[in-house]
Amino acid sequence: MRVAVVGCGTAGPVAALLLARDGHDVSMVERVAEPRAVGAGILLQRLGQEILGSLGLAEDLRRRSTPVLWVDARTRDGRRVMDFRYDDVVARSHGWGVHRGVLFELLWDAVSAAGIPIETGVRIDGLRSSASGWWLRTSSSGERGPFDLVIGADGARSRLRRLSGLASKDVGYPYGALWAVVDDPDGLAGDALFQGYGDTRITLGVLPTGIGKASIFWSIRSREMARTVAAGTAAWAEVARSYAGDLAPLIDRVPEGDLLAARYRDVVVRSPVLARAHGALVLLGDAAHAMSPQLGLGASLALADAWTLAACLRARPMDLSLALRDYDRARRAQIRYYRWCSRLMTPVFQSDVVPLGWARDLLAHPVARVPWVRRQFVTTLMGVRTSPWTTWAAPPGPPDHR
Ligand SMILES: Cc1cc2nc3c(=O)[nH]c(=O)nc-3n(C[C@H](O)[C@H](O)[C@H](O)COP(=O)(O)OP(=O)(O)OC[C@H]3O[C@@H](n4cnc5c(N)ncnc54)[C@H](O)[C@@H]3O)c2cc1C
Repeated sequence: MRVAVVGCGTAGPVAALLLARDGHDVSMVERVAEPRAVGAGILLQRLGQEILGSLGLAEDLRRRSTPVLWVDARTRDGRRVMDFRYDDVVARSHGWGVHRGVLFELLWDAVSAAGIPIETGVRIDGLRSSASGWWLRTSSSGERGPFDLVIGADGARSRLRRLSGLASKDVGYPYGALWAVVDDPDGLAGDALFQGYGDTRITLGVLPTGIGKASIFWSIRSREMARTVAAGTAAWAEVARSYAGDLAPLIDRVPEGDLLAARYRDVVVRSPVLARAHGALVLLGDAAHAMSPQLGLGASLALADAWTLAACLRARPMDLSLALRDYDRARRAQIRYYRWCSRLMTPVFQSDVVPLGWARDLLAHPVARVPWVRRQFVTTLMGVRTSPWTTWAAPPGPPDHR
């Protein structure tokens, strides 16, 4: 098939790699003119680690990441709210704290080494289907196409999602985050994802991020972001420091002007697939299911989408519509589960419903002693669940997979 992948973030390059390896004629477009290794730290969970492992890319990423063994959540006065350890539940498992730029570099290099053409500085802003297939439009440089399959991997604010009309919900969360990456050559951030809570309106997060860095996240109402950034990093640090406990020196390392804003969207699509008589569009990753990153799973879910899409296309090489129907079915339960988890958790950690924070601080620690609850929390964090009773199994890769 002639396949166009729009977006070279996480889902896009992995889908491109897998489909090119399966012999499809794949090309990519990316709106950023000179893509670089930028972004915050992310926690890559077991779901994503395993998929990168199947692609032969995990070892390189693991070497440049920090093992995150546990979640250490405390109130401002140091009282423990949560202390989940991954290996309390699943032996030898842990998250990888990694700079998003490192993941980007790895995927970019793999796509380039595979000889997949990438056009950069091209923003897709139109879409049209014809008897010969789908065409992608740009306002500046005309049309690209025709394609049998267009993969919309263009992120949380996906243009392709808007153009396709597939969304049944597409709204911004009232809260987002300010974030920064700081030097941490001595590994002060340790091996934990640290969270310091005020009430539900304040969460400070610190994530060890590999390559001698740590990432700082500061939960904030979207409408207050600009004012806080304008007031300067020093004013912010004055407040944030008191939630950081022993990690306060990291807060003081955020350089003036380096606090950046991230906003989240809550996106539901009726189906990620729009099929026509001659070709189809499929949305992957945040384009199909952007959610609050409370659980640190967006990148892992995006990787699982790409992997599943390739498997479904491989299983039905002669029928694109059926392959995409299988894809939709294969991803539905897991995405629904994580969307609901994310929606249930967000008010507890990022909202104006302050009493929920009191209940959290009082109950989370004793409730988490119940082994079933602990198991649910840790396996949910690992990205492997489709419900409290069922887990997700990745479809098999190609027989000759490298
Ligand atoms: C503050 C923050 C913290 C996060 N923490 C975590 C975490 O700990 N763990 C985790 O797993 N996830 C985390 N995430 C989420 C994670 O980053 C995303 O879920 C993941 O990157 C989604 O991948 P994607 O490929 O769908 O989209 P993206 O990675 O956003 O890639 C989309 C790409 O499409 C390009 N593009 C957009 N529009 C167009 C267009 N019109 N034409 C051409 N190209 C276009 C963009 O430039 C971009 O390169 C976090 C997100 C944020 C904001």
